[in-house]
Amino acid sequence: MAKFAAKPGEWDCDACYVRNSADKTMCAACNTPKPAAAKPTSMPSTFKFGTQQPQATADTKVGL
Ligand SMILES: [Zn+2]
Repeated sequence: MAKFAAKPGEWDCDACYVRNSADKTMCAACNTPKPAAAKPTSMPSTFKFGTQQPQATADTKVGL
């Protein structure tokens, strides 16, 4: 898949695999946002995933 000589910054669309130039923030074909642009390098602290365990009750004692 990386056979083509890609210029630095070029990116392939996740949806249609069209190669877009580095200055594009959206796919030229399907307007899918650039994958790298959607992910900030610094993850905000408000990002909570898997911290809530609604199924966990006091039935089983978890911890040390
Ligand atoms: Zn696309």
